Amino acid sequence: MKNLKSFSSPELEAFLISLGMKRYRANQVYQWLYQKGAASFDEMTNLSKEERTALNEKVYISSLILIKKQTASDGTEKYLFELEDGNRIESVLIPDEKRLTLCISTQVGCSMGCRFCLTGKGGLKRNLEAHEIVDQALAVKGLLNKRITNIVLMGMGEPLANYDNTIAALKILLDEKALNFSSRKITLSTAGLIPQIDKLGKEGVKVNLAISLNAATDDVRNKIMPINKKYPIKELIACCKRFPLPKRRRITFEYVMLKDINDTKEDAERLCKLLKGVPCKVNLIPFNEYEGCEFKKPDEKSVERFRGILIEHHIMSITRKSKGAEISAACGQLRGSN
Ligand code: SF4
Repeated sequence: MKNLKSFSSPELEAFLISLGMKRYRANQVYQWLYQKGAASFDEMTNLSKEERTALNEKVYISSLILIKKQTASDGTEKYLFELEDGNRIESVLIPDEKRLTLCISTQVGCSMGCRFCLTGKGGLKRNLEAHEIVDQALAVKGLLNKRITNIVLMGMGEPLANYDNTIAALKILLDEKALNFSSRKITLSTAGLIPQIDKLGKEGVKVNLAISLNAATDDVRNKIMPINKKYPIKELIACCKRFPLPKRRRITFEYVMLKDINDTKEDAERLCKLLKGVPCKVNLIPFNEYEGCEFKKPDEKSVERFRGILIEHHIMSITRKSKGAEISAACGQLRGSN
């Protein structure tokens, strides 16, 4: 039996028409799925009983199974979900002043192998389907009595390595008849897959772009992010410069700070030189240590010094507070295991 959420909007319309239903029903069903989070056809009370029975006989509605929810003392919540095939993924909800940001996964595991990241250690199991990406937002939304304000594609996986499903999911997240997020409130983070970033620039989907940069030289980046050997820093920055940013938007560069690896004064100066002329901001993320990891968290002084140099060079920069580390929900700590 097919999952109704695996249909695109035009496919859904064609399918309902094939069942003898009127065209306008497609909008109604779409809203039930993505605005009201209906888990069964019985909830779709504006459809006739016959229509609901016909749907029940032909298709089903998928949903994620919540296996575990953990809450950290700073309010960060981590959700462990099981997919239909038994694989597990994690999503993280991060409260921050007026924002409530949901960090979602796009793959089970990840093939990028960034050395500081726990998710990459187990390799890639599989891509998530578009509906499995969207279902994370629907599932968490259904558990809250507050509105999720922002979505970041920064959980497990490299979104642009699962390009088609990520774009299909973004379209549903942005669709006013579905989850209706503003494109300003969604950020896609990539390790730097240049051809896919170029392709994204040509899509009608104008979400914010974040680049997980983490180094200012190929030497350092090659050591911590194997993808850099394929797409070196200069080419990546050239790609960022040609990315068609909507007005008044900036590219975010994520910079995980690793003690004695990329946190020196010279690193900061090289980064300033590299980012000259790119409309951007830099998020400094002091590394979150985990058991058995080979890297150390930098001391506060070097983080402040680093940030000071960026500011001196008029590069907007914030130090991202580490949230949810005690429940392994911080950046690079998601594993999808119980
Ligand atoms: S940091 Fe992102 S791209 Fe790199 S291994 Fe981890 S999940 Fe994959």
